[in-house]
Amino acid sequence: MRAFILRRSELIARGLGDVVVIGSVHCAGTLRVKEFLTRNGHPYAYFDLDRDAEAQELLDRFHVTAGDVPVLICRGDAVLRNPTNQRIAECLGLNQAIDPAQLHDVVIVGAGPAGLSAAVYGASEGLDVLVFESNVPGGQAGSSSRIENYLGFPTGISGLDLTARAYAQAQKFGAQIMIAKGAARLTCSR
Ligand SMILES: Cc1cc2nc3c(=O)[nH]c(=O)nc-3n(C[C@H](O)[C@H](O)[C@H](O)COP(=O)(O)OP(=O)(O)OC[C@H]3O[C@@H](n4cnc5c(N)ncnc54)[C@H](O)[C@@H]3O)c2cc1C
Repeated sequence: MRAFILRRSELIARGLGDVVVIGSVHCAGTLRVKEFLTRNGHPYAYFDLDRDAEAQELLDRFHVTAGDVPVLICRGDAVLRNPTNQRIAECLGLNQAIDPAQLHDVVIVGAGPAGLSAAVYGASEGLDVLVFESNVPGGQAGSSSRIENYLGFPTGISGLDLTARAYAQAQKFGAQIMIAKGAARLTCSR
């Protein structure tokens, strides 16, 4: 786990990965895409149309225009124009296929701190846990710059670090977490 977390942190810090984002700081869609990748702990390289000369070269190479931003190039071949979060999750393979016939011990709606805690404790006790998160893991806490009242972190920890660790911990114990896949309704008829 330690090697996995350190390697991932290094890839994120250096912007090394299989995703290139071309966008603009003036574009809300660009902010959304960058936040989605960051909150999922997915490393990416970013080129800004207003700042980086390479941005236009990349757009030309992949036959897209400035009007298409944010553009996400996945693994050097798939070119997504202003993709939804669901489309990005699909392209990056963030979600495993769900077998609708499989009965789970616990299904959790929401991967904020409460949902991730439930996933860690359920999966670590050997339960078959499935989590649905409509947006990104971490919930509100993931956007906090520093949380100082969480047990065990006397000097504080950023919400992103805290929830990224919880996300990794839940997966380590085998919880299946579906990203950008919200629960539409609960059916309690049987
Ligand atoms: C900027 C900021 C700073 C904060 N700082 C602190 C702090 O320092 N200390 C502290 O104690 N608290 C802090 N908080 C509050 C703390 O983050 C929340 O109390 C905590 O996140 C609540 O956790 P939760 O899992 O119950 O809900 P949430 O964090 O709200 O998570 C709910 C999750 O459910 C998902 N969801 C919603 N509907 C669906 C659906 N239909 N299907 C699937 N998923 C769904 C959401 O996308 C979300 O990820 C802060 C909050 C913010 C915004």
